[in-house]
Amino acid sequence: MGADIGVTGLAVMGANLARNLARNGYTVALHNRTVGRTDALINSYSSEGEFVRTESLSELVESLERPRRVLIMVKAGGPVDAVIDELKPLLDEGDIVIDAGNSYYEETRRREAALREHGLHFVGVGVSGGEEGALNGPSIMPGGSKESYQTLGPMLEKIAAKYHGEPCCAWVGTDGAGHFVKMVHNGIEYADMQVIGESYDLMRSLTGLEPSQQAKVFREWNTTDLASYLIEITSEVLEQEDELTGRPLVDVIVDAAGQKGTGRWTAISGMDVGSPVTTIAESVFARSISSQQELRKITNQVFPAGINEAVSAEELYGSGDSRQDFVEDIRKALYASKLVSYAQGFDMLTAAGAEYGWELDMRAIASLWRAGCIIRADLLDTIMKAYEAPAGERPANLLLAPEFTEAISECLPAWRRVVAAAATYGVPAPVFSSSLAYYDSLRRDRLPAALTQGLRDYFGAHTYQRVDKPGTFHTRWSGDRTETEA
Ligand code: NDP
Repeated sequence: MGADIGVTGLAVMGANLARNLARNGYTVALHNRTVGRTDALINSYSSEGEFVRTESLSELVESLERPRRVLIMVKAGGPVDAVIDELKPLLDEGDIVIDAGNSYYEETRRREAALREHGLHFVGVGVSGGEEGALNGPSIMPGGSKESYQTLGPMLEKIAAKYHGEPCCAWVGTDGAGHFVKMVHNGIEYADMQVIGESYDLMRSLTGLEPSQQAKVFREWNTTDLASYLIEITSEVLEQEDELTGRPLVDVIVDAAGQKGTGRWTAISGMDVGSPVTTIAESVFARSISSQQELRKITNQVFPAGINEAVSAEELYGSGDSRQDFVEDIRKALYASKLVSYAQGFDMLTAAGAEYGWELDMRAIASLWRAGCIIRADLLDTIMKAYEAPAGERPANLLLAPEFTEAISECLPAWRRVVAAAATYGVPAPVFSSSLAYYDSLRRDRLPAALTQGLRDYFGAHTYQRVDKPGTFHTRWSGDRTETEA
């Protein structure tokens, strides 16, 4: 009997997925460009299950049961193509090549089409949960052909995270759909972290709550409708004391946020499919600004921010309201902004579904994110409920789902107060502000886009449509200023 699956690329993610598969009873053939990694894995973990050691891709392929399943877990980009090129001549029709790394979905679409021509299945799989998830159960978002899921699905479902016994793994759609869904997940993750950061900054700057005090606030928030993994770990990071200095760890960490690029992809793809994912884009830009350390230093000297002392509640509200009230306002602003961010993420999925012909099941996608992944949160149950309505009655945008409209109305006054306070006292809150602007834009009956159209027509004869009759029109701006039908 051959091995059930082969894994090539045994750095941390590949090694942990291989171990997860072996722990679940599958025989896993192992390969890595540098053989030392394969040996290290076998030496340390051979007791966890059945591993087959191989030194080349041809040896890996030869060791597998048919149809063969080869999981590629190498560095995203060129290395994935290099491995595919080497694998292709070694495989037979019906074999399945799986890329579970963080590949860009357009590359997955290209690779899928190319391998399909050779009778091979290529499955781009989104995997979320980091190293820990890969080992103990990640959230898994497979794309590729539906046919390949029949063979591969049971295996992936077995190693996936479970939410009340239900696997966080389901086929999401053809070709690059899996990687697209994972990319949107990461974009939402960026926004989730940014709104947590804005809450922390506002609390620290305007109410003077120290990190250890805020740890308690976040712990409390984790018992509300904000309950989520990221809120939970925020309290742990905030209460951590630096061993060297005894100061809060968060005060000695350099305030320049790194990024590997998936948030940037989400923002760009949102623009490509015509979906305004402003919260995600703002979150990416917020990280970019944080990394402009030199410029920030100079600007701070020229225009000192000067938020050195806690602003009193009286000053914030012009009344005797307590500091707790403002903290509660921030909680509501966080929740409302998070609702907008998810609404935008799902709007983007809807737009991509139409663009690429994927029949994305939004309820199922929300269900995949309930365990194993970084954005796991109680809110996902609410989203699932919103998409339970029969087809045709589902909300065009999540903000229109009754669960969302109710929650937004509840949070709105607090959300406005927080954005106003942030602007008044000069605390940057880009996602709180832009998500409120998104909400306000959607509900306006008229937007200034009419003036934009007038200007475009003036300088570029780009034409415009009228509200009172069909057709396309142009005003002769440089002539007698009469209107013509274009
Ligand atoms: P890396 O992204 O660091 O890649 C290292 C692995 O790629 C090694 O096995 C290396 O082999 C192999 N490799 C690099 N170049 C080549 C090449 N040209 N040909 C063959 N093999 C090559 O590994 P990670 O485990 O961190 O990540 C793997 C994938 O998973 C990536 O796409 C990454 O983005 C994604 N990822 C996903 C996470 C998640 O939460 N889902 C978290 C982290 C990563 P060698 O040992 O010989 O150098």
